[in-house]
Amino acid sequence: MNPPDQRMANAFDPGTLASLPAREQALIRRRQQALGQAYRLFYQQPLHLLRGEGVWLYDAAGQPYLDVYNNVASVGHSHPQVVQAIARQAATLNTHTRYLDEGIVDYAERLLATLAMPGHQAMFTCTGSEANDLALRLASNFTGGQGVIVTAHAYHGVTSSVAACSPAFGEGVALGPNVRTVPTPDSYRGVAGEDVATRFTHDVQAAIADLQRHGLRPAALLVDTLFTSDGVFADPPGFLAGAVDAIHAAGGLFIADEVQAGFARSGSHFWGFQRHGVQPDIVTMGKPMGNGHPLAGLAARADIIDAFGSRVRYFNTFGGNPVSCAAGMAVLEVIEQEGLQHNAHVTGAYLKAGLQALAGKHELIGDVRGAGFFLGVELVNDRQGKQPATAAASRVVNALRERRILLSATGPAGNILKLRPQLPFAREHADLLLDALDAVLAAR
Ligand code: PMP
Repeated sequence: MNPPDQRMANAFDPGTLASLPAREQALIRRRQQALGQAYRLFYQQPLHLLRGEGVWLYDAAGQPYLDVYNNVASVGHSHPQVVQAIARQAATLNTHTRYLDEGIVDYAERLLATLAMPGHQAMFTCTGSEANDLALRLASNFTGGQGVIVTAHAYHGVTSSVAACSPAFGEGVALGPNVRTVPTPDSYRGVAGEDVATRFTHDVQAAIADLQRHGLRPAALLVDTLFTSDGVFADPPGFLAGAVDAIHAAGGLFIADEVQAGFARSGSHFWGFQRHGVQPDIVTMGKPMGNGHPLAGLAARADIIDAFGSRVRYFNTFGGNPVSCAAGMAVLEVIEQEGLQHNAHVTGAYLKAGLQALAGKHELIGDVRGAGFFLGVELVNDRQGKQPATAAASRVVNALRERRILLSATGPAGNILKLRPQLPFAREHADLLLDALDAVLAAR
């Protein structure tokens, strides 16, 4: 079996297999045999989950786990309205986009209305990776360029072209010769005296100049609008604006990757880019879009889609099928009916304030940041030097798992606790988490 994966925070160490109960050992061995070396498991004690409901997951023994991590079943695990919408449509008809279907048009109209950018049109895929891949094709077709700018620890997906724009993979995957990275817009470790917006704008301008020096025309600035794999950076609102102007001035497009930040997660806004008051040319989306059903896609300016569509026939066998659209529509309805964006805003603020109070008690917490229900808690060995507390983060994540609270860690050093609860997460759940985290930090 593989050695422990140093590049992934909180990965299971196969060396400890013998310490697990016989049933889990046997399943891990079969999994390894059937699926091979590329998959990873979370936790020193991997979890075997059988059921989910709302903000809770249940293991094989029926024990509940508070899910503070999974940004896919975002309106709640097994939400009945989404389950019924999927089941009803699956029992009626499932085809593809080459037949007339009202569902996809209804859904596209409703989805586009959330963006409040008249003139954008929707295209559907099955994964966020495919959405970003398609966005890059649209961008290079429209601009005639190939150059792509991403942040230093970005993750945009698994196809060859987007993996080549994902430095978060590390040495295992080479960045494309057309790709330039810019430093993370880091509000915690930034250069003294320089604000995040000014620095980020300069860095993007420098990357544009470097592309041009190498004879590459810039096609796109592609960013995850909450910078989640870079370590969760949401503030100050508006800091993206100068960089967006810079890519436009160079003839490139701004692609907002909303796979993590979208669908009401940031609380104050439905989409992460709205926090920055910018207008993306292309918005890519996925993860929570179908609450677990594989639905993803993009919205792009009509002229960008026209330029592509006049040359290319787009067909994605499963993308935008009637069952997927029914799932997507149900997700939008639930977010609205249950007031989930408002909940992410107010309960997210409550959770963040609780985490800040813990920072007042525990030296290990260097910074608390994020927006709505996407929060990062950066653990450091010393607050002066801000040295990443990677091992401590792993201990905290595993200790919380022992208390049946699920979260993970992110960032280049894996020292930033990543909190992404389901959107119906309530104050009582935040209190459970805060109490457990307080106890775990006190017990170190
Ligand atoms: N973009 C971002 C910001 C992501 O976090 C991810 C998935 N973690 C992707 C794209 C790729 O999405 P998928 O796994 O659905 O292909």
